Amino acid sequence: MRTIEQAKQILEELGRMQEKGLAAGIPCPRCGYPRMRHRLVENSLSRRADVHICNVCGMDEALRDMAGSPPLPLNEWGMVCGFDGDKEE
Ligand SMILES: [Zn+2]
Repeated sequence: MRTIEQAKQILEELGRMQEKGLAAGIPCPRCGYPRMRHRLVENSLSRRADVHICNVCGMDEALRDMAGSPPLPLNEWGMVCGFDGDKEE
């Protein structure tokens, strides 16, 4: 398991790639599903890190905030976990 700080670095690196248009085809970093819209601005900017996430995740973050629930820790995001595992799929 990575630390939150390591996770944030990975995610914000991806965020910079997104800004440059280099992240096409990369799934949502938070849930890991290929739900990202082609145009970056049609996705949601995460409240937790400087990276765009899919609108489902954007909604989930907003709802958690509204409910006063703790956010999903950055080191439990799909992409960050995916980088840790060796398993295919
Ligand atoms: Zn997502």
